[in-house]
Amino acid sequence: MCGIFGIANHPEASHLAYLGLYALQHRGQESTGIATADDSQVHLHKSMGHVADVYDEDTLAKLTGSIAIGHTRYSTAGDSSENNAQPLMVTMRPYGQVALCHNGNLINAVGLRHDLEEQGAIFQSTSDSEVILHLMARSQEPDIMEALKDAVRQIQGAFSILLITKDALIGARDANGFRPLCLGKINGSHVLASESCAFDLIDAKYEREVEPGEIVLIRGEQLRSVQALPSTKTSKCIFEHVYFSRPDSLVFGRTVQNSRDKMGRLLAQESPVPADIVVPVPDSGVAAAIGYSQESGIPFGFGLIRNHYVGRTFIEPRKAIRHFGVKVKLNPVRDMLRGKRVILIDDSLVRGTTSRKIVKMVRAAGATEVHMRITCPPTISPCYYGVDTPTRKELIASDHTLEEITTRIEADSLAYLSLGGLLQAVNSKPNEFCSACYTGKYPLEFVDAIPDAKEAERQLDLWEESLKKTS
Ligand code: AMP
Repeated sequence: MCGIFGIANHPEASHLAYLGLYALQHRGQESTGIATADDSQVHLHKSMGHVADVYDEDTLAKLTGSIAIGHTRYSTAGDSSENNAQPLMVTMRPYGQVALCHNGNLINAVGLRHDLEEQGAIFQSTSDSEVILHLMARSQEPDIMEALKDAVRQIQGAFSILLITKDALIGARDANGFRPLCLGKINGSHVLASESCAFDLIDAKYEREVEPGEIVLIRGEQLRSVQALPSTKTSKCIFEHVYFSRPDSLVFGRTVQNSRDKMGRLLAQESPVPADIVVPVPDSGVAAAIGYSQESGIPFGFGLIRNHYVGRTFIEPRKAIRHFGVKVKLNPVRDMLRGKRVILIDDSLVRGTTSRKIVKMVRAAGATEVHMRITCPPTISPCYYGVDTPTRKELIASDHTLEEITTRIEADSLAYLSLGGLLQAVNSKPNEFCSACYTGKYPLEFVDAIPDAKEAERQLDLWEESLKKTS
């Protein structure tokens, strides 16, 4: 997770970065930061909190210069603290001040960090992203692009990266293309962002994706591109289209809304059920529910309303209210649900705990039947490439049958979209997407990074443990 944004050669770089991050807030709500460069110096402002709260006119005015990068963070490696907020800024010879933002997870960061620390490196954060800066600092290359090439050849896993020096903006993407990164233009300025919705807000035009394995270096109006890593097979994250990205974004060159609409239509074809109303679990289920409704001919209704102002945590009343966590986010429209056979559309079923509460809520509102339909296959394996999934043991589909899950969430029926259907919905070319969360087949295994199988198992346990702590 995490959202990244960069712009070069623009007189209002910090303001546009701020707006870009506003559009990318859904990718991370823990902390945010912007670094700018004004030919002589790199400036930085970062803090825990949302984009709307972290910046004001004063902070943006102090972020002078025509180059900027920014980040919205959702921690998946390293804890959620100010120390780990990005951009990370360092001074390294011979490039001077350098700031870095990263979206993704490195799967060999633990080993690399261990080796670097043995050689005397001092780390300021617990984030895997800092390893990249250390590897660059060790490179003997006078050209920063070459130093980054050196670094990306040593790291494994998922990374879309942005860097600035005092006079350049650099973007890079891993060879598998796990996480998105796209390139746009606004007059003579280049922009880079996780999703194209960031371009729309600032009137920038979408040009293309940064290709898997590509590094782009932008100085003034000039863009230099190199294929730093050979990319023979991609594994773009399918979950970006299922849940994570905004529906109005182009991600991996496709509109997310179209994918979700198609997921709903295919789900209606694969798993029809007689019912009176199709209700989305908002917001991520909305587009698919419309697709399901249109395909099945069953009317669509906003039977659940989401409160958009609830953060990740809230203060609960002292005397516990049943299912408060779900109630504070979602509320049923009783008149719409009473006496109806309801098809609920949600994007994913992970632990099953939220779904169970939602089913109960819809039934308590008077629904006579509740049929749950999920727009992806059962999630059976954790993600090691940057999506915050719980450990394998907590994934309900990893050790329960469809019948057991149906009983657990107390639904009248439950069906998932097939993997074939999901790949069709995103218009996948052969071997284009990573679907390890549904298949358990990882495009980059931990064992690739750690030759000793026992050590690999240990690292996997440590990793799962750290995911548990941060989720
Ligand atoms: P549960 O029923 O507890 O498995 O929760 C399923 C809900 O969690 C769905 O509505 C999803 O939209 C949401 N969800 C899925 N993956 C994530 C994630 N990585 N972070 C936060 N929410 C998620």
